[in-house]
Amino acid sequence: MRIDLHTHSAVSDGTDTPSGLMHAAAASGIDVVALTDHDTTAGWGEAAAAVAATGVALVRGTEISTRAGGISVHLLSYLHDPEDPALVAMLERSRDSRETRAQRMVERIAEDLPLTWADVEEQAADGATIGRPHIADALVARGHVADRAAAFRSLLHPSGPYYVRYWAAETADAVAAVRAAGGVPVMAHPRAAARGRVVSTAVVAELADAGLAGIEADHLDHTPDDREALRALAAELGLLVTGSSDYHGTGKPNRLGAFTTAVEVLEEIERQGRLPVLRP
Ligand code: AMP
Ligand code: ZN
Ligand code: FE
Ligand code: FE
Repeated sequence: MRIDLHTHSAVSDGTDTPSGLMHAAAASGIDVVALTDHDTTAGWGEAAAAVAATGVALVRGTEISTRAGGISVHLLSYLHDPEDPALVAMLERSRDSRETRAQRMVERIAEDLPLTWADVEEQAADGATIGRPHIADALVARGHVADRAAAFRSLLHPSGPYYVRYWAAETADAVAAVRAAGGVPVMAHPRAAARGRVVSTAVVAELADAGLAGIEADHLDHTPDDREALRALAAELGLLVTGSSDYHGTGKPNRLGAFTTAVEVLEEIERQGRLPVLRP
């Protein structure tokens, strides 16, 4: 069983449609995939409709933007009620703020380089959760940078003059909201230091007390030492351990199935979640 619990489609900042992602998963020999677009569940229906044709089982999920002590934390939620009002409101607020923030970043960049909001809109699917990757794609289209990675290293870097923050819920509040919606909260890439500051083990322990179910130990942005340390931390705190690709289509080097999750862990996630895994 090959189980990949963290992927993105063009409903956020990946490049495959949700259905295209399901077909790509089948082609990569994946048995179970979680679609976890940023701050949205809008891709669930299209992905679910592709389960039968692809033979790939689907875990419906979301990667929620949160912050703990000012540090960005990505919280994966699995199998939650997509209509839970409090969670829906939290995700809507993040999406709205992401859009305003992206517009501000474009305004700042446009003081120095030709770039318009229309350029960015051209790179995002209708209704997609907007992120820096869409600004990166617009910068590539304008010929300002070679690819997304180059954009993130330069113009879009958090320590640069163009960066703007967006609203995100406190991580502990998001963990509570996910649980209240019947979801299973798992902290994504807790040690991905290249993205910025990461939370301490004390914060992970607090979140475990607040209802966190697991941590993503196996991820491309973690060193072997990070992965080992996170496994030890999970054992100490009684948390589940997941492994996933964080696939973004052609938007990142992450390949489907590069890291996977044990079948026993998926079973426990399904036991704790309100929705079933959709099987062919
Ligand atoms: P944002 O949430 O708008 O701040 O943008 C962060 C998103 O950009 C995350 O989903 C990352 O997966 C993606 N990202 C971060 N660094 C890179 C990179 N070097 N190349 C492509 N995508 C990246
Ligand atoms: Zn992303
Ligand atoms: Fe993430
Ligand atoms: Fe992600």
